[in-house]
Amino acid sequence: MITVIREPRVYLVGRPSLVTEGWKAFFDDEGVGLSIVGEPVTESPEKSELHWETDTDNAAELLCMAAGKICYDAFGKGRSDTGEYLGNIIESKHGSVLEHVTWNFIIAGASRVFSHEHVRHRAGVAISQRSQRYVSESASGQVLLSMIEDNPEAKRVWEEAVAGAQAAYDKLVQLLAEDLRGHIDKTLLVKTVRSAARSVMPNATETYIFWSANARALRHYVEMRASEHADIEIRKVAVQILKIMQREAPNLFGDYRLIDLPDGTQEASTDHTKV
Ligand SMILES: Cc1cc2nc3c(=O)[nH]c(=O)nc-3n(C[C@H](O)[C@H](O)[C@H](O)COP(=O)(O)OP(=O)(O)OC[C@H]3O[C@@H](n4cnc5c(N)ncnc54)[C@H](O)[C@@H]3O)c2cc1C
Repeated sequence: MITVIREPRVYLVGRPSLVTEGWKAFFDDEGVGLSIVGEPVTESPEKSELHWETDTDNAAELLCMAAGKICYDAFGKGRSDTGEYLGNIIESKHGSVLEHVTWNFIIAGASRVFSHEHVRHRAGVAISQRSQRYVSESASGQVLLSMIEDNPEAKRVWEEAVAGAQAAYDKLVQLLAEDLRGHIDKTLLVKTVRSAARSVMPNATETYIFWSANARALRHYVEMRASEHADIEIRKVAVQILKIMQREAPNLFGDYRLIDLPDGTQEASTDHTKV
């Protein structure tokens, strides 16, 4: 019995936050008044000679803006409109500023085809992936692409191959465990046996990834992978991530346009690539 998976699922599980005490202490020490969307952070901010009145309380956007402003000693000076400020950062490709904010995701319902491509993105990310050595693949889900499912003969071939691979996996686990039983401890035996047996599992096998990425890395990922040239599975993940990020930080991801593709999926496009 194959557990068929059809769509990847992306869960946002962590986001940047502000430490208000730290902001207050810094701006007090600098003598700059700070209020966050009308809420005073420092004492009587409007009385300070320099005063930063933010128009957003979006932590990620404020952190990036503060990182940018520190470069030019611009607290209480220059642009204070967040959209305009971060738009200029993106346009001028001052991308290192976007590395200060990281989001955490869990990606499920995606295959090892997807994960092999996903983990090629190294800069600005952290990855923890479900282990095929510790976790049994006996009953794991298998990702079935719609182009295979839509063709009855192709679907039959796929089901036969996947079921055969899962049966071979179970048989190898059993045979190899018999060889090792009594020679090594039980935990090591299970790990060793699954380690060898996984070699017959299909690329369609579902995996789980905990993924963290900063805003700069996220933008690059979206550009490379929410593209019509990318594989359909990773493209779907990248488009889901972009939609999440456009809600999370509109001033960091609002420049992307989503375009419908003939196969019913979408791709993303921006005028400001590789920030
Ligand atoms: C449509 C498509 C087809 C592909 N086909 C293939 C294929 O056939 N075979 C294959 O092997 N791969 C393929 N890839 C993967 C591709 O080559 C990259 O490995 C992958 O997209 C990760 O992107 P990145 O190299 O920009 O790395 P990221 O880790 O996302 O890095 C982001 C950026 O940081 C910089 N950077 C990161 N690491 C370094 C470094 N070590 N030194 C200097 N600068 C660095 C670079 O500017 C890089 O663009 C494909 C990707 C796509 C989107």
